[in-house]
Amino acid sequence: MEEPYFQKTLETMSRSDLETYQLKGLKKTVRQVYDNVPFYKEKLKALNIHPDDINSLDDVKRLPFTTKDDIRRNYPFGLAAVSLNEIAEIHASSGTTGTPTLGLYTLQDIERWGDMMARCLVMSGLTNKDVFQITPTLGMFTGGFGFFYGGRKVGATIVPASAGFTRRQIQYMLDFGTTMIAAIVSYLLRIAEVAAEMGIDLAKDTKVRKGIVGSEMWTPEMGRRICSIYNMDLYDIYGLTELCGPGVGNDCRIHDGIHLWEDHYIVEVIDPKTGEQIGPEEKGELAFTTIQKDAAPLLRYRTRDLSYLYDSLTCECGRTHRRMAKVQGRVDDMIKVSGVNFWPSQVEAVLMKQPNVGTEYLIYVARKGSADHMTIKVEAKSKMSEEEKKNLAAKLSAELREVLIFTPEVIILAPGELPRTETGKAKRLIDERAI
Ligand code: ZN
Repeated sequence: MEEPYFQKTLETMSRSDLETYQLKGLKKTVRQVYDNVPFYKEKLKALNIHPDDINSLDDVKRLPFTTKDDIRRNYPFGLAAVSLNEIAEIHASSGTTGTPTLGLYTLQDIERWGDMMARCLVMSGLTNKDVFQITPTLGMFTGGFGFFYGGRKVGATIVPASAGFTRRQIQYMLDFGTTMIAAIVSYLLRIAEVAAEMGIDLAKDTKVRKGIVGSEMWTPEMGRRICSIYNMDLYDIYGLTELCGPGVGNDCRIHDGIHLWEDHYIVEVIDPKTGEQIGPEEKGELAFTTIQKDAAPLLRYRTRDLSYLYDSLTCECGRTHRRMAKVQGRVDDMIKVSGVNFWPSQVEAVLMKQPNVGTEYLIYVARKGSADHMTIKVEAKSKMSEEEKKNLAAKLSAELREVLIFTPEVIILAPGELPRTETGKAKRLIDERAI
């Protein structure tokens, strides 16, 4: 079967054409922010850089970084390169840790976002014959609308269900014959639970065979669990509100790395401590320079997401845009317990390997005296005796020790004991030491 593309010429362009395209975009963007955004003009002047000095892609290294704090300090429109009149849409992240970060778009930005989303959706198997159910919120968040704009371009039958009302969502799936679903991972798990309560087997009773998920961190182990519950293929979409929302990149049917749309972004991996650019296959912080954005272009935006770029510039799917490894954690999400640094995802990977463990868990960290104490509460997949619970807890505790070096306490709960969220990301970590 021939590989489907949404924009074949752009998705498969040669490296040299792509680089020519990128340099043109970079020059335009530096000029745009120099002329229209006082924040950038000052920064560039301080570094003695004039837009005419940008002559090669390597010159991106000379440009100043932009941080999330810079975006917050310039809330709401300080980084806009166009007048409010030209801004067609405003979206915002949740802002749970302070001022929300905004996504600003001109009409052209919306078009381009829709194109990137359509590429990601086609890469994930969406066609104009699919019934596509969108479960992320259609509101201030970028998720719902991103899938909506992309799905429309592909010509699929869209069910803009938005978040929550899980029983109703499942009814839509059955009634409309949904074949593909967009969601965050924790919501796919919630749907699975409610479906079980309703006596519905998602794998047998629905036609959902493709899923596209983003926003939350999830391990391949969790992905495999979900694929078997739904009997579907799962795709990983990457994005950030500041860059456009979802749609910055996506994994292809090979499921080996995420293609990043390099005709829209120049991507770098940097050392999070020194800011020095580092090479392919080396892990560091992702930084993006937008090269096709008009409303609020960003230079070297530091994402805090940790990953690495692949050395290889080719892929079996035929796309030439560089791949990155699945994001392995955020600089800010790393926790330190008893002197050991790790990400909650490392715990999830161990838990999900056990077939009799359910998909809900909570990591709880507290200080006891002068020592850190970590408890992991995890639900059993089905009802268990006290004896079975004790044995499973001991097994998990020993396996976690291999990864964490210290031994955490593990408590096995009955199915359904942990609190659930109907909308938004699941809370997997409570760190009492920080409260
Ligand atoms: Zn590929």
